[in-house]
Amino acid sequence: MSSTTKIKIGTSEISLDHFQHEPQKYAHAVLLAKNTVGHANCLCNKDCPRLVIARRAGRYYVAGWPNEGHLHHPGCDFFKNESGGSGLDSYSQEALQKRGDGSFSIRLNQPLSLELGAPTRPPSGARTKVDSKSTSRRSSTLLGLLHYLWEESNLNRWFPGWRRDWYLARNHLLATTSKGEIAGRSMSEAMYVVPKFSTNAAQEIKRSWDTWSVPLLRSAMGATPAKLKNSKSITRIHTGMILGRIKAVERTDRGYIIKLKDHAYPIYAKHALIEKLEKRFGRFTAHIEQNQGECIVLALLMPHEKGYFSLIDAGIMYTSAALIPIESNHELKVADALRLADRHFSKPLLYDSSDEVFPDFVLYDTARSKTIMEIYGMVGNQAYDNRKKEKQEVYRKAEADLWVWDLTKSKDMPPLPPVR
Ligand SMILES: [Zn+2]
Repeated sequence: MSSTTKIKIGTSEISLDHFQHEPQKYAHAVLLAKNTVGHANCLCNKDCPRLVIARRAGRYYVAGWPNEGHLHHPGCDFFKNESGGSGLDSYSQEALQKRGDGSFSIRLNQPLSLELGAPTRPPSGARTKVDSKSTSRRSSTLLGLLHYLWEESNLNRWFPGWRRDWYLARNHLLATTSKGEIAGRSMSEAMYVVPKFSTNAAQEIKRSWDTWSVPLLRSAMGATPAKLKNSKSITRIHTGMILGRIKAVERTDRGYIIKLKDHAYPIYAKHALIEKLEKRFGRFTAHIEQNQGECIVLALLMPHEKGYFSLIDAGIMYTSAALIPIESNHELKVADALRLADRHFSKPLLYDSSDEVFPDFVLYDTARSKTIMEIYGMVGNQAYDNRKKEKQEVYRKAEADLWVWDLTKSKDMPPLPPVR
């Protein structure tokens, strides 16, 4: 991502980074711009594309103008590929609502609060359902939400000259969550994005953790068995989400202990839950031991009255060290080679769709406008081979160049296509 994006608000030229950190410092310029031209501008190219100025939870933010993401420089934070390049299109308006002011609301297939002491009733259709008439989804899984946050924060893209580590990535994720709403709660309040730890910031980090975790833990204190027995009304426990990088998953007799990087508080999980997650996302415990790239988790947590959190469900995504999402060790090799060569590329994300056709990577700096990059590798899998043929047909129609690493022919990665 770029740390050099400059924006113009009123007559002030400001670095986007500074504005996102301390928007209140620019309140005067924001008011002036809102009352005169009505928008801000991005200074990434000579056309100075428009930016929305909006306010949420008492804080100003700027966002890309709807449907004008392609007008920005490809290295700009507000640049967006035209739609159709990811599983995002499989969501209905009900699952994901994007508003003109850059804000959005997502409907998760899990409740963010639990009612105890209430008469039991069937779940209110909050499960992931696929519309019978179309293929659009009415709610998102945690993985779908994780992919959305990644794409909105431009973390599935790379542009020459960009830098990226967890500190920078988190800043972009926070800028995205500040515009989001989930189950009627602001996403920044419902989700804790683990900060990069430093001794200097230790106190501030502790404060932000307490601000997020204490209200949830308090909601659990009202729901001890004794209190529920004496209570005639419904007690509500608030669950919460945490987004971070898994450091270790330790098996004990009673369950698993999940430790996150830069985060002092472990998450407890039942044996059966981890086994279920490994069936869905692959063996992440092994992936972490191999120490290749990162294992990102978006975890839904249940607070307990004794002051700890346990895992309810999770979305898990593997990435390279530069936080580019990958789906296999071979993709990791390609992502690292592209990153090392500082190429302009993106990684299309699947979200919750399982039957859609997307390239493994897309390169934008080759002779033709696009080069589709594909890794073929599973020998003797008929379903996979059929899908591969189907994919090739889609690419031919897309008039893109094709780069293929066929593992049935060579274990060595072919050279990357040259830059135009
Ligand atoms: Zn721009």
